[in-house]
Amino acid sequence: MGKKDAARDIWTRFEHESLSDKSLLEATSDKPIRIIPGVRLMKIGGQSIMDRGRKALFPILNEIVANHESNKIMICSGGGTRARHAYEIAIDLELPPGFLAALGGSIALQNARILQMLLAKHGGIHISTEQFEMLPLFFKLGCIPIMVGMPPFTYWEEVPQKGSIPDNRTDTGVFLTAEFLGTESVLYIKDEDGLYTNDPKKDPKAEFIPEITVSELRERDLDDLVVERVVLDYLQRSKNVKYLEIINGLKPGNITSALAGKHTGTRIYKG
Ligand code: ADP
Ligand code: MG
Repeated sequence: MGKKDAARDIWTRFEHESLSDKSLLEATSDKPIRIIPGVRLMKIGGQSIMDRGRKALFPILNEIVANHESNKIMICSGGGTRARHAYEIAIDLELPPGFLAALGGSIALQNARILQMLLAKHGGIHISTEQFEMLPLFFKLGCIPIMVGMPPFTYWEEVPQKGSIPDNRTDTGVFLTAEFLGTESVLYIKDEDGLYTNDPKKDPKAEFIPEITVSELRERDLDDLVVERVVLDYLQRSKNVKYLEIINGLKPGNITSALAGKHTGTRIYKG
């Protein structure tokens, strides 16, 4: 059956079936088109980078600026310690996860606005979700689009797997943006060389893992991770993103190296 016929067939079936029918869902699993292929999407960590201030952030921004003419760079912001503080208060007050998600989003928004101001003279432009459709224009103008990392689920945040901290936070938002735009990888700029067998800040014996697949990582069942756990679930189901790379933004040259396609930190592959 040709593509057009298949689409018509699905349409006829939509009229007569529920949207939960397994075989119908199967028939829609075609590869979606890539909306803006080639975007280099990166998240600048909230706690790991932004909260460290100028010493950490300025060299990172300089490196991004130095690379932006040869790359379509887009930045998403993290939340960090202020978001954790807000969560703590909200949890103490027994407010629901959706409210925490709304709070966390406004803090990541502060960071996006800070990044925009610092990059304004190099074309840094803050885009809200309403301006998302204008991305092609911003790239054409040589801008560096900056967006809040938090996905806009707010009160409609999924019920968390455990406890009341929203599962979908800024690591997730940047991943979902990448998946939608059709990029092959997502770069997480944090303060460690990548993924270790345990949090290297707490366990000095933790070993570095240069690359791993999602299923291998699940098998290891690590106590703590360098990215939000749900990102791994999404990566496993992704249609566009093939891997995540976590790099140490505190080491000069790492961003340039990762943007050049060199394996720089830890790569977590779909599979
Ligand atoms: P962000 O600033 O992007 O929000 P986080 O602070 O949430 O980043 O996550 C990065 C931190 O995760 C690292 O600074 C590290 O201390 C911690 N971490 C926890 N578990 C691991 C692990 N298995 N490997 C590496 N880092 C880990
Ligand atoms: Mg985090």
